[in-house]
Amino acid sequence: MMLHRSAPPRSLVWFFMIFALLPPTLPPPQIGRSEGRDEPSPRDAAESPETREARERMVQDQIIARGIRDTRVLDALRKVPRHRFVPPAMAPSAYEDSALPIGLGQTISQPYVVAFMTEALELKPQDRVLEIGTGSGYQAAILSLLVREVYSMEIVAPLGKEAETRLKEMGYANVQVRIGDGYRGWPEAAPFDAIIVTAAPPDVPPALVEQLGPGGRMVVPVGLYLQDLIRLRRTSKGLERETLLPVRFVPMVPAGAEQR
Ligand code: SAH
Repeated sequence: MMLHRSAPPRSLVWFFMIFALLPPTLPPPQIGRSEGRDEPSPRDAAESPETREARERMVQDQIIARGIRDTRVLDALRKVPRHRFVPPAMAPSAYEDSALPIGLGQTISQPYVVAFMTEALELKPQDRVLEIGTGSGYQAAILSLLVREVYSMEIVAPLGKEAETRLKEMGYANVQVRIGDGYRGWPEAAPFDAIIVTAAPPDVPPALVEQLGPGGRMVVPVGLYLQDLIRLRRTSKGLERETLLPVRFVPMVPAGAEQR
């Protein structure tokens, strides 16, 4: 036999009353909505429950299911609104298990690859990180929640500018974007505790190795068409090198090549 309550608990009534009052003042954002300058930062922005649910499903089915365990990385993936880093037409696919085109022949990496590389960097809150290949700015946004400072370089100027504006508007204040050639790195801000390369060079760029500080970790996809994801670690005994995962990234282009 089922027990029935004569009235719902008072707290529940309050909850629904408050909920009923909210919509006129806080319209739920839609996936794919174009960005407005006055939008609040993503950390407080209202989101539709469907969007949040899609992102949680991404974390569960694509990331945790494949063995990513670093809770700080998982939390960052739960927070960053990936659908705002892809062109509006791609937004409905933003939480799918794939890389997506972001224009100018470039791509935003598959969520699992972002999670895997971020975990492999073994980031600590006080770290300063260099990213090569800003692209959409999504990876930079993830990093910004995990470390003190993020320096991100992009060789395709319009992409870099757009990402810089987006990151600023969305409140990721500890990210700096520079338009320039990642093969040179960012010597003025070196040494870095971690370096993540999100385009594939044929070999590990020597300037980046130089800019890796003591105890520093670098994650980089090395190779021409298919690549191995390599992790380098600067220990007291020298550079340690591990091969982590087969991956496929867009090539890291030499300076000037993008204008051909
Ligand atoms: N991290 C990005 C995805 C990167 S795609 C994101 O989260 O969206 C790879 C990016 O590397 C592209 O935007 C490409 O233009 C850039 N890139 C390629 N060669 C480069 C170079 N030599 N220096 C800096 N950026 C480069």
